[in-house]
Amino acid sequence: MGQLTFEDDCLIRELDSRYYGFLDLSNSKNAELRNLVQQTITNLQNYIANGQAHESKNISDNKNAIQKFEPSTQAGEHMENTSSQINDDTKPFEQDAKEKVPIIEEKPQDEHYVNALCKLGHLHLLLGEYSEALSAYQKYLRFRENNYWTNHAFMYGIGVAYFKLRCFKWAIKSFQELLYLSPNFTCANEVHLRLGLMLKHCGEFHIALKHLQLALLYTYPSTFSELQVKFQIAHLYEVQNKHKAAKDGYEFLLNEKNISLELKADVYRQLGWMYHCVECLGEKKEREANALNFLQKSIEADPKSGQSLYLLGRCYAGINKVHDAFLAYRNSVEKSEGNADTWCSIGVLYQQQNQPTDALQAYICAVQLDKDHKAAWTNLGILYESCGQLRDAYACYLNATKQISFQKSSLIRKKQAIRMKKDTIGLSKGLSQRITFLEGQLSQAPLPSITSKRRQLCSIEEAWNLPISLEMNSRQQQTAQMLPRQVTKQSPVQGPPPPYPHSQLSQSPIPSKRIKEDGTGQQEVTQNNSQTSAQNLINISESLNQRNFNAMPESNKSSEQSVLDTFDDISNDIYKQNESIKLERLSHDALSNNEDSRHDYIGGDNADLSTTFKIQMDSKQLMAAVKLLPIDEPPVHCTILQVNAPPPSPPDCPPQKLTRDQLLPPTPSVHLENKKNAFSPQLQEFCLKHPIAVVRGLAGALKLDLGLFSTKTLVEANPDHSVEVRTQVHQSPDENWDTSQGKRVWACISHRSHTTIAKYAQYQASSFQDSLKDESDKGFPGSQAMSDSDSKDSVSNSNIVLKRKKHKINSKMLRFGTNVDLSDEKKWKPQLTELQKLPAFARVISAANMLSHVGHVILGMNTVQLYMKVPGSRTPGHQENNNFCSININIGPGDCEWFAVPDAYWGGVHNLCEKNNISYLHGSWWPVLEDLYKENIPVYRFIQKPGDLVWVNAGCVHWVQSIGWCNNIAWNVGPLTARQYSLAIERYEWNKVQAFKSIVPMVHLSWNLARNIKVSDTKLFELIKMCLLQTLKNVLHIQEYVKSKGVEIRFNGRGKNEASHYCGQCEVEVFNVLFIKEQEKRHVVHCLSCALKLSPSLQGIVCLEEYRLSELQRVYDSFTLHRTQGLAYTQ
Ligand SMILES: [Zn+2]
Repeated sequence: MGQLTFEDDCLIRELDSRYYGFLDLSNSKNAELRNLVQQTITNLQNYIANGQAHESKNISDNKNAIQKFEPSTQAGEHMENTSSQINDDTKPFEQDAKEKVPIIEEKPQDEHYVNALCKLGHLHLLLGEYSEALSAYQKYLRFRENNYWTNHAFMYGIGVAYFKLRCFKWAIKSFQELLYLSPNFTCANEVHLRLGLMLKHCGEFHIALKHLQLALLYTYPSTFSELQVKFQIAHLYEVQNKHKAAKDGYEFLLNEKNISLELKADVYRQLGWMYHCVECLGEKKEREANALNFLQKSIEADPKSGQSLYLLGRCYAGINKVHDAFLAYRNSVEKSEGNADTWCSIGVLYQQQNQPTDALQAYICAVQLDKDHKAAWTNLGILYESCGQLRDAYACYLNATKQISFQKSSLIRKKQAIRMKKDTIGLSKGLSQRITFLEGQLSQAPLPSITSKRRQLCSIEEAWNLPISLEMNSRQQQTAQMLPRQVTKQSPVQGPPPPYPHSQLSQSPIPSKRIKEDGTGQQEVTQNNSQTSAQNLINISESLNQRNFNAMPESNKSSEQSVLDTFDDISNDIYKQNESIKLERLSHDALSNNEDSRHDYIGGDNADLSTTFKIQMDSKQLMAAVKLLPIDEPPVHCTILQVNAPPPSPPDCPPQKLTRDQLLPPTPSVHLENKKNAFSPQLQEFCLKHPIAVVRGLAGALKLDLGLFSTKTLVEANPDHSVEVRTQVHQSPDENWDTSQGKRVWACISHRSHTTIAKYAQYQASSFQDSLKDESDKGFPGSQAMSDSDSKDSVSNSNIVLKRKKHKINSKMLRFGTNVDLSDEKKWKPQLTELQKLPAFARVISAANMLSHVGHVILGMNTVQLYMKVPGSRTPGHQENNNFCSININIGPGDCEWFAVPDAYWGGVHNLCEKNNISYLHGSWWPVLEDLYKENIPVYRFIQKPGDLVWVNAGCVHWVQSIGWCNNIAWNVGPLTARQYSLAIERYEWNKVQAFKSIVPMVHLSWNLARNIKVSDTKLFELIKMCLLQTLKNVLHIQEYVKSKGVEIRFNGRGKNEASHYCGQCEVEVFNVLFIKEQEKRHVVHCLSCALKLSPSLQGIVCLEEYRLSELQRVYDSFTLHRTQGLAYTQ
């Protein structure tokens, strides 16, 4: 007992997270292996407990123990309760690790001891014991904070554990880092799929689609079928309200021959529900018929689906087939126990039938199953309010607004929290109104004396606590005939059966007079809302409920939930069918995958590589060193930052605590008197020194003709030119309200459409005319009142304007004309010529501007873009693409207000975005200033007047709102400084982690810089040289690898001004070695990793070379530090 045979030992060594999903240990066929795994877990636990108890002098004994897996005599007394170790979603695992640093020093830092923790995590994972796995992995992480990223099986394992425990934020982080480090990882397809599912769930649809499509590319063994992924893609379209694409996707699946019954049931269910909800799919009658038909087909395909039955009930209820609806709900309750949605809908149905007592019971069932069920609490509140029981109504509304119930286990809480944030859209506005109103009512009302009033319904406390009476039960059967005994038997998932109201109360007659008497208060309650009857409220509740279901981004939340769940269920079935085959195939793969298995036991072995490759090498030495690299594994597109860098992540904010004054720093600004000022080197120095700077009076000093960019001139020049339009809510500059929720938020609405310059000009002018009328009525000058001096004055001034404006926020919509492309020199010659009057550092094109060395157009970056604004037009928070600097000139006539956070604090802003469930890179966000101050993040705030130039330095986070009517022009520049270059490549790498396209091709740019400029700044030189080194090494390595596959590399060269290349699949920049594959009659460029996904042998893929190796070698070798005094470049 306890002693493993050599074979067993080898087998166990082989097992890690990569077998997850392929090896089904719950299958009786694998009983022997399961026993082995469980025994090993016991041994490991004993060993670890032993390790904790011993001092490090016993390390050698422990080594023996781990090698032989000998059971310890000190069984588990030091073991922690692993199941309670689930990390809170809000707490990063690194932070967790930091908090517990002291433990590390007490423990023997023995390699074997630490690896035992990781192995324990893997084995728990394979048994499906996710919290235990996570706990072990997190302990491992504490010892491996500084090199965990070299252990890819660990990163995969902890990602899966987080995924299964629905800590999506952390699962996403682990998986993204894993793909960044190892895009060819054995289970990369599994990672892409799970990332796709989670990002879809989190509303990051663009990136979700990318991952799902990447999951389809692979030829690796997988736990999912192609059709399942296609179903997820169709569902992704559905949740984005892309109905046509979703419908096409679903219908495509129905035509597939080998579609499984379960998937068929899912497809029918989604189609049915779409027909029920989506108006553009036809006439209502026809749609309802289709909906019923599809849902019935879904139930036929999978009779166990409580979900489809529930939706069928909703459809029947929608067309007033009450009996059928009840029947479907009842069946649904039988199939899927304890579905709060079903109970909520049953409640609605009863309420509509004027059966308040039964409705009460159903809602109570719903909220007992799911204490955070917002719709059920809201409906229950409405029910109480309609019966004049204001206190109960108030309590229910409060519960509806509570996001998280703290009695829940952290696990369930997480699940709920993720769901809750999605379904709050429709209900909240009405809710907060009701709550405020009831608060008013209740504060005026005398304390209710229990005896003085008879209540129609029992109170919420009573309803919650009282057991059901038989009488009630039978009466219910008589009246409704639809919810018989099964109800009481089936519904509870935990604890006692759902309590029903006491018979006495429920049987109390419902005197209509009584309602009116009690309802005096109620009439007041409702008249505000111009809803005077209970029935109205119910209707509203139903429509809210309905809307809630239809609302973005989850067209039906329960369905969404089940879509995520079914993936697991379905794929589990697949494991069971194929597990023996898969095990063999995978073990073969795993054995051949040296890189990963090596990392598992010898952490950080490639530390040696850093000494091998350094920028002092010449190209010959480099080539010789590359020849020594293994080519049995495909080379990975490596970081260009430095050798063996950890995966990039947002930095912590500077720790220094800022005073209130420091949190509101004055904006660096200069006033230009004349042309000489504008061209002085001090101006450039000043700009480069500060995170952001405003150069006042620039247009005047240079005699720039801003009129060339006025709306009038633009219309005359190119009336039909395209304008992108953002439709936004008009708000005060320092506030961002979600009017539906009645609170300040980060997410800011900005819908996109298109128009022409002429049409926008018309809108801009008429909006101005309208306001003149408004203003003359009110008699204040509005946005015109601005100071002309420094930023602090401007701030206080703008505040005055804000306060005046506040009363008319009422979600007035406005249209912002943005990203007007002025790159065409023929169309915009006078405008572009005028801008050549600017000093070199601010010019669109100049030798001192890195972006002029890209050699091709990057729209809006090395070309001019124009913005056409009405008051309130918002450019939401962002950093510039790849952290380049930007120039922005206000054309006028109105002003703009700017907010900016120094680049050192971007990690803090990023975290706040995450906290607010909004994507830092993709999302549209408007920071709540108080949130920033609380996090010790300073904010510059100033007014940009006509003729003022704003310099946004590298990495500065900023957001802008127009105060008046004005146009702006803007573009990016890249000063040739080490700071600019390093921030640009840092972002380039972080974008890779986030699967976000870098629109500045930094590798291509770096090689051009090496060709074109002489660098005398040591830091800048080293950074560029490092990029050249890393990319040349990668190019050589890829070529060796490709040749070893027997694939010929053909020289293709580059066309003049040819744009740099990006992978058509993953959007990473592809430099020099292009893998071309014809896809849908187009020749698509791929990176090596994506080419290998399509064709592991590279058969059918053409490999092209852009530069001769000799040319790259020459550039690399001749790029040296230029030792002169003075500037790094010549103009
Ligand atoms: Zn790719």
